[in-house]
Amino acid sequence: MTENRADEGLVPYASLESRSQGRRFAEPGPGYRGEYERDRDRIVHCTAFRRLVYKTQVFVNHEGDLYRTRLTHSLEVAQIGRSVARRLRLNEPLSEAICLAHDLGHTPFGHAGQDALNACMRDFGGFEHNLQSLRVVDELEERYAEFPGLNLTFECREGILKHCSARNAATLGELGRRFLERRQPSLEAQIANVADEIAYNNHDVDDGVRAGLISVEELLTVPLCARHHAVVVSRFPNLPERRLVHEMIRRMINELVTDLIVSTQARLDEARPADAAEVRAAPAPLVGFSPDVAAEHQALKRFLMDHLYRHFRVLRMTRKASRVIRELFAAYFDDVRLLPVEHRDAALAGAERDGNSGKARAVADYIAGMTDRFAIVEHGRLFDPRLPVA
Ligand code: MG
Repeated sequence: MTENRADEGLVPYASLESRSQGRRFAEPGPGYRGEYERDRDRIVHCTAFRRLVYKTQVFVNHEGDLYRTRLTHSLEVAQIGRSVARRLRLNEPLSEAICLAHDLGHTPFGHAGQDALNACMRDFGGFEHNLQSLRVVDELEERYAEFPGLNLTFECREGILKHCSARNAATLGELGRRFLERRQPSLEAQIANVADEIAYNNHDVDDGVRAGLISVEELLTVPLCARHHAVVVSRFPNLPERRLVHEMIRRMINELVTDLIVSTQARLDEARPADAAEVRAAPAPLVGFSPDVAAEHQALKRFLMDHLYRHFRVLRMTRKASRVIRELFAAYFDDVRLLPVEHRDAALAGAERDGNSGKARAVADYIAGMTDRFAIVEHGRLFDPRLPVA
């Protein structure tokens, strides 16, 4: 790719478009946009992105309209990622694109769905949601005449593949190599990873309090929350709880993002990478919190694990969700004729190519693409004789 104005003002170790490893299928330049802006736009226009609105973050979509979904989560992640990338003079559109795409491969029902589908796929290569996000943008989206998927840049695809098992990495060529050689992704991808954590830890506090699963008193056992709660209460002693909680959370996010920017800049000043290749060769990620803030953030994460994700009301939904996924998988795998024609054909083609693993992969693709409510309705159609079959 030729010199591009998109690189103006960026630090030399940013992901520069002029140094991009390009797209899998060569295309004419993006015209009025930069290459990474084109990636972002393709992601926003794709089907999997729209489905995120009906996929669970923690609370299943039908439990209430005010909770985060994967779509609003992805937007919050992108907002944080953009701020951090811009402040560090890194490539903001690339970080934004990675943030918006990072959950495209998520199953219905959040982590419960992912774990259940992974268990179903145990004998057929497993199911990893990061790898599935890559599969969505590389193969499953059907939108363009000249290539499958969205044909995103290498740098965007690299960022989307946040984790990957060594076994799967070995099949991915250049993209998988960093997992085998323990190298880092670009700084823009590293930002997206941390932005994801900041977003969900904080919005899960908000959603958890709103749902009545965690109380403000319980939150005061978390140092990060207690510190900001004390400041807000001393300045605004009579604030109603809803505003108090939001005021506390916004200050928590602000502290985390500020610390992330300052600590990352300090690490970059010390490491002085000459270019993005040196960032990738570094022994550890350069984007991160200071040790004290990292420990506090970790404590918040542990609190949420104990008090929210393992709350009996959440666990009950988790159990139901696993059952829906397991039973859908078993029914389709047992008889692919139950699948809609297009997916049945994909399963038959998969079986022809790779036997049961190919068939199972097509079934997993179909299930992973479902929204929460579609999976619930479809489960009823297959298992409840009182309901219509299609
Ligand atoms: Mg996420």
